Amino acid sequence: MGNNHSPWGSVAPAAPACSLADVMSEQLARQLDEENNAFPTLTESGADLLSDEAPDTTSDLMLAQMLQMQFDREFDNQLRREEKKFNGDSKVSISFENYRMVHPYEDSDSSEDEVDWQDTRHDPYRAEKPQTTPRKGFTGKGKNITTKHDEETCGRKNTARMDNFAPEVHVGDGLGMDLKLSNQVFNSLKQHCYSEQRRSAKLHEKKEHSTAEQAVDPRTRLLMYKMVNSGVLENINGCISTGKESVVFHADGGSMEEQPVPDEVVLKVFKTTLNEFKNRDRYIKDDYRFKDRFSKLNPRKIIRLWAEKEMHNLGRMKKAEIPCPEVVLLKKHILVMSFIGKDHVPAPKLKDAILGLEDLKTAYYQVLHMMQQLYQECNLVHADLSEYNMLWHEGKVWLIDVSQSIEPTHPHGLEFLFRDCRNVATFFQKRGVSEAMSVYELFNAVTGLNIPVGEEDEAEFIAEATQLFSPNPLSSLHIVCVGNPLILSFPQPQDVSPDVVV
Ligand code: ADP
Ligand code: MG
Repeated sequence: MGNNHSPWGSVAPAAPACSLADVMSEQLARQLDEENNAFPTLTESGADLLSDEAPDTTSDLMLAQMLQMQFDREFDNQLRREEKKFNGDSKVSISFENYRMVHPYEDSDSSEDEVDWQDTRHDPYRAEKPQTTPRKGFTGKGKNITTKHDEETCGRKNTARMDNFAPEVHVGDGLGMDLKLSNQVFNSLKQHCYSEQRRSAKLHEKKEHSTAEQAVDPRTRLLMYKMVNSGVLENINGCISTGKESVVFHADGGSMEEQPVPDEVVLKVFKTTLNEFKNRDRYIKDDYRFKDRFSKLNPRKIIRLWAEKEMHNLGRMKKAEIPCPEVVLLKKHILVMSFIGKDHVPAPKLKDAILGLEDLKTAYYQVLHMMQQLYQECNLVHADLSEYNMLWHEGKVWLIDVSQSIEPTHPHGLEFLFRDCRNVATFFQKRGVSEAMSVYELFNAVTGLNIPVGEEDEAEFIAEATQLFSPNPLSSLHIVCVGNPLILSFPQPQDVSPDVVV
C-alpha cells in the first residue's frame, strides 16, 4: 500500500492492534519455517520433544493458504476503512478498489454478490449460452419472425440459465429434455435458490464465528495438528470449556520419548484475542519472576507467559503433592496436562458436585490443607480460588487454573489471598459446613500470621497483614522475632527456567 504515485498520497497501513495481519506480517513466515524444521517443545525439563516429525506439507499448504486469505481479508477491511476516512462525507469519492487483495467475486462475504451472480464468470462446465436475441428484439423474417418475448425461446433460455444456479443446486438436464420454464417459474426458482444460498452462507458464517470465539485460529490449529502428527496426542476430541481467557479441549494421549503421556489429557489453549487479558496484567507484570520480560514483550508473547506461568505453578504444586493436573508439555500458548475425570467425562467443579455433608466436610478440610500447602510449601497464592476452580474427583478436591497465581510477595499478594479466603469461607458456610472458619480465621490459618480477629474491618486487617509481611529485611527480621517461620520461604528464582524462549 505504500504507494507514492497515488493521487491521495501514501496511506499509512495502520493495522488495528493485534489483528491477524499484525501478528503475521513480521513473523509468520519465519515462524512457520522454524516450526517446520524444528519444533522445540518446552516441558518442565525444557526437553525438545517434537523435533523429528515429518511435516505434512499438503495440510501446511492449506493452512498457509487459509492464513493468507485471512490476511488478505484483513488488509481489504483496513483498506475500506482508509477509503471511508479519506472520502469522508465528500460527494466526490475516490475508490481504492484497485488495491484490494481479494477480488470482489472471491470474497463471498460481499452482500453485493446477488447482482447478476449467475452470469459473471466463464465456467467450462456450463451449458451453452442460449442464442441471444439481437438488440433489435427479433430474429428471422416475415412469418418466421421471433421476438425476444417469444414464449418458447424464453422458456428454453430460462432453462439454460437455470444451469447457472449455484453448483449445489441440482437442476437436472433441463436442456436435454427441452424443458421450457416460464418467466414466473424461473424467477421463483431463482429466488428460492438465492435464499437457500444466503441461509447456508449464514450457517457457515456462524460456524466460523464460533470457531474464532474458541480461540482456535489457524496458528493454533496448526500447533494442535502438529501435536497429533508427532504422536504426542492420538486424537483431539472436543471442547470441555470456553472461558474468557482460555479454551480447554479433551484429547487422547499418545506417546513421547522422554515421558509417558496419560491416556486422557486436556489442552488448555490460552486465547490469543488479547483484550480479555488486559485486566489481568497486574497478576503478571508485578510478578518478579516475569517482570523483566513482561515490559519487553508484545501482547501475543504475553499470552504465552500465562501458559508458562501455569506450567511453573503446577510444577510447584506437584512437588508439594497437591492434587492437580500434571503438565505434559507446553507449546507456545497451549498447555497440555493430564485430564481430571474419566472416560471423557470431566470431573465436576466443586460448585456443581452433589455432595453430602460428610463429603463437604472432607472437602473443606482438604481445601484448608491445600491452601496452607500452596502458601507455605509452594510459596504461592492462587488468586482465583473458588468453587469454580476446584474439581471433585475420586473423593478429593483437585486444584486447577493457576495461570494467575502469584507469590505472596507480589504487591497485591495478600489482597488476593484474602479474596481467596473469602470465596472459600463463603462457599462452605453456605453449604452448611459448620466447621468452616470465618474469612479472617482462615487467612490466619493459611498464612500462620496471628492477626487478632475482632471487629476490625477488612482493609485494616489486610493492612496489618501487609505490614507483618513486608519484604523489607528489617520487617522480616521483626517477623522472624515473633516466631513466624513462613517468612523465611523466600522467592525461588530458579523457578524461571533460563531456556524458556517466548
Ligand atoms: P479458565 O481460565 O478458562 O477458567 P480453567 O483452567 O479453569 O480455565 O479451565 C476451565 C474449565 O475446564 C474448568 O472449569 C474445568 O471444568 C475444565 N478443566 C480445566 N482443566 C482441566 C483438567 N485438567 N481436567 C479436566 N477438566 C479441566
Ligand atoms: Mg477457571
